[in-house]
Amino acid sequence: MSLPAPILIQPIAAIFNGWAASFAALPVSFQYICTVLFGLIIGSFLSVVVHRVPIMLHRLWQAEWHSFAAHANITAKAAAATTHTAVSNEMIDQAITPPPMAGKSLGDKHAYNLCLPRSHCPSCQHTLTLTENLPLLGYLLCRGRCSACHIPISLRYPALELFSAGLAAGALWHFGASWPALAAFGLATTLLALAFIDMDTHLLPDTLTLPLIWAGLLVNLDASFTSLHSAVIGAVAGYLTLWLVYWGFRLLRGKEGIGYGDFKLLAALGAWLGWLALPQIVLLASATGALFGLTAMACGHLKKGQPLPFGPFLVAAGMITLFCGTPFFAG
Ligand SMILES: [Zn+2]
Repeated sequence: MSLPAPILIQPIAAIFNGWAASFAALPVSFQYICTVLFGLIIGSFLSVVVHRVPIMLHRLWQAEWHSFAAHANITAKAAAATTHTAVSNEMIDQAITPPPMAGKSLGDKHAYNLCLPRSHCPSCQHTLTLTENLPLLGYLLCRGRCSACHIPISLRYPALELFSAGLAAGALWHFGASWPALAAFGLATTLLALAFIDMDTHLLPDTLTLPLIWAGLLVNLDASFTSLHSAVIGAVAGYLTLWLVYWGFRLLRGKEGIGYGDFKLLAALGAWLGWLALPQIVLLASATGALFGLTAMACGHLKKGQPLPFGPFLVAAGMITLFCGTPFFAG
């Protein structure tokens, strides 16, 4: 029995391929100008994702924690009443107080998502104007400073926008004006956001990694990057590879070497690029991670035993494989 792949993916791919054909008929220089502008806009949105998703997650965890705490409070009091044990509210609160999240301001209880509140200066809370919100141009027009309090704006915002624009141009150059180019850009920008979030918080949120796995399987229904067979095996093998490393390390050393988010990230790369890409991705990520860690320790920037996020190295290896194929491995 054949899978209903064409029914699911072909209409979407056909629409994009129709647009891509019209786009490909435009002058090449115009194609690149449009692509770079599109990349800059998406890069601006990525800055919001990188900053807000960890805070949104933490707010969710805190809400769940308080819900649990309220329930635990009632349960503990009921138990104390039954057993005549003195349990003070302070004792319960102390036991169930959620840990603070270092470096992140949770703000008040107003809506907090990717759209609200509007972008503002983290120092003086000045709401950014339309001009200030323009990708890259806003940064240049304000000379890298907040227009209200003149505090320097982090270089990471224009850097993310430029990186995203470079990925958009790279996708157009490598895949041409086509559906796989758009899909590859989607993969690359999500990977970029994950790398920054992992560097900041040592988290790889499920809200990004899990949809990336499903998206990888969906785009390969019509073998955009690899066969569906290879994508499914890649997703499973990607997860299991690092799961085995995690348990091996835990049994041998008694501590966790990598996080669960890394399993899901490698599963996503396997789903997009196929299982044949996994050896190269794991090898490149491990080698560059070890080299970076040793260099950072030698320079005094990293202490022995201090955790180093593995996600950015998986992301770099995944991007190299996306754009350069698997020159180190046949297949
Ligand atoms: Zn300001």
